[in-house]
Amino acid sequence: MSAPPSNVTGMSNDDMTGGAVGTVIRPGDPEWESARRFHSGIGEPAAVIRAATVDDVRGALRYASAERLEVMIRGGGHSAWGGVPGGLTLDISALDDISVEGTRVRIGGGALWGAVAHTLAEHGLGISSGDTASVGVGGLTLGGGIGWMVRAWGLAADQLVGAQLVTARGEVVEVTETSHPDLLWALRGGGGNFGVVTRFDFEAHRLDGVVHAVYGLEGEARHILGVLRDVMAGAPRELTVTYMDVPPMDPSAPAGATVTAVFIGTDEEAARRALAPLAKAPGVTEREFGVQDYPDVLLETPEFDPERPMPGFLGGNTLLRELDDDVIDKLVAFHEQNPASVVFLRSLGGAYGDVAQDATPFPARDATWFAMAGAFDIPGMIDDEARTRIGAAWDAIEAQGAGVYGNFTVSTDPSVAGRMYPPATMARLAAVKRAWDPGNIFCRNHNVRPEADAA
Ligand SMILES: Cc1cc2nc3c(=O)[nH]c(=O)nc-3n(C[C@H](O)[C@H](O)[C@H](O)COP(=O)(O)OP(=O)(O)OC[C@H]3O[C@@H](n4cnc5c(N)ncnc54)[C@H](O)[C@@H]3O)c2cc1C
Repeated sequence: MSAPPSNVTGMSNDDMTGGAVGTVIRPGDPEWESARRFHSGIGEPAAVIRAATVDDVRGALRYASAERLEVMIRGGGHSAWGGVPGGLTLDISALDDISVEGTRVRIGGGALWGAVAHTLAEHGLGISSGDTASVGVGGLTLGGGIGWMVRAWGLAADQLVGAQLVTARGEVVEVTETSHPDLLWALRGGGGNFGVVTRFDFEAHRLDGVVHAVYGLEGEARHILGVLRDVMAGAPRELTVTYMDVPPMDPSAPAGATVTAVFIGTDEEAARRALAPLAKAPGVTEREFGVQDYPDVLLETPEFDPERPMPGFLGGNTLLRELDDDVIDKLVAFHEQNPASVVFLRSLGGAYGDVAQDATPFPARDATWFAMAGAFDIPGMIDDEARTRIGAAWDAIEAQGAGVYGNFTVSTDPSVAGRMYPPATMARLAAVKRAWDPGNIFCRNHNVRPEADAA
C-alpha cells in the first residue's frame, strides 16, 4: 500500500479529489497526535481523514481508492485493533446526529451510546447497547452488541432495522429489509466489512428507568457462580447480570469480584425477588440497589494514558451454551492461577435466543452466557512458560464454547474471524462482500474475504 503523496499534508478542502473529502491529517500536522489516538492506544496509519458529512465520506473513499490505501473506519474508537499500522483511518465521529420519530431512531454512524441513551431517555425510550457510554454505535452494533437489555430485546444488532451506507464505490445506499435484505443481514453482526454506515436506523423500546444493583462478592467464587447460574435459569427477561472479577492494575473497574444487575422498569420488588437467592448467598453484600435512569447506569471509562499503557491480554472469550460446573471450575482456576487476570460473564438467553440462527451472522443463538477471561501480560511477571500455560488454560475453556464474539477480541488475525463465523455463515458473508466490496478495501477488521467459501 502506498502512502499519500506529500502534497496533501494538512488539506482540509476539496481540491485533491474533485469534491469534499473532509480534513486530511498526516504525520507532522499539528493535529496528528490527537487524530491518530483511539480509546486504548495510539495508531500508526498513513493518514487520518475526519469526515463530517456523507459527501466527505464519499470523497475519503475516492481518495483511499486513488492512493490504494486500505480503510480503517473509526466510529467510537473502542476496538482493540485501532493500532494496526498503515492504511487510512476514516474518522466519522462527527457524524453523530440522533433523531427520534415515534419509536424509530436514526443515529449517525459515528455517534456514541451515552449520547444516544440521553436523547432516548427524553422520549421515554431505550435501545439495548453495551455497558459503556463512550463506546461507538458503529462498532458495537455491526459486531452484535451484548448490552443490559439483551435478554429482553436481544443484541443491539437485533434492533437494527435499516441503514444508510456508503459503498466502496462511493455510492450511497439505503438499506432496508425490502431494498437490500442480504446487506441488512450482513450488517447485523458481520462487522464493518461492507461499507461505511453513515446512519443506523433502530426500533427502540419503551423504557421509564431501570433497577440497578451491585453486589460485592467475598464468598467462594465457585459457589456464587453456581447460585448466579441458577438465578438466571429461572429469571424474568427483564433481568440481565454481569459477573466481574478484576485485578487491581485494571483501570476500567474497581478491583474485586462483583455482580451488577440491571432490571428493566422501576419495579424494585420484582427485581429483589429475582435476585433474592444471590443476595442471600454467603459472602454476598448488597452495595447498591435502586431505580435509576438508564443513561446513568452506563459507565465512563478512563481515557488512554500514554504514561500507563495497558499491558497485553492473554486469554479470550466464548459464547457458552451452558455455564456448567466444569466451566465454572475452569474459570475460577484461571483466575486463581493468574492473580493479574480478569474474569467477566454476562447472562444471555431470553430474546437473544428467540432470534433464528440464520437470521443474523451472529454465532451461537443457543448460548446462555458470554464468558471472557484474560491475564495481563505484564513484563517481568509473565514469561514464555506462563504464556503457554495461560494459553492452554484458555483453550480448554474456549473448547467448551459455541463461538467467539469478535467485539471482545484483541486481534484481527484471520484465525479470529474463522472462530467467529461457522463456514456456512462465512460463505454467505463472503457473497455479500463480493457484491459490495469486491476489492476488500474495508479489510482492517475481522475480515470477511471476498473469496472466502464454505468449501
Ligand atoms: C470499555 C469498553 C466497554 C465495552 N462494553 C461492551 C459491551 O458492554 N457490550 C459489547 O457488546 N461490547 C462492548 N465493548 C466492545 C465493543 O463493542 C467494541 O470494542 C466495538 O468495536 C466498539 O465500537 P466503536 O465504534 O467504539 O469502535 P471502532 O474502533 O470505532 O470501530 C470498530 C470497528 O467497527 C467498524 N465500524 C465502526 N463504525 C462503523 C461504521 N459507522 N460503518 C462501518 N464500520 C464501522 C470498523 O470495522 C471498526 O474497525 C466494549 C469495549 C470497551 C473498550
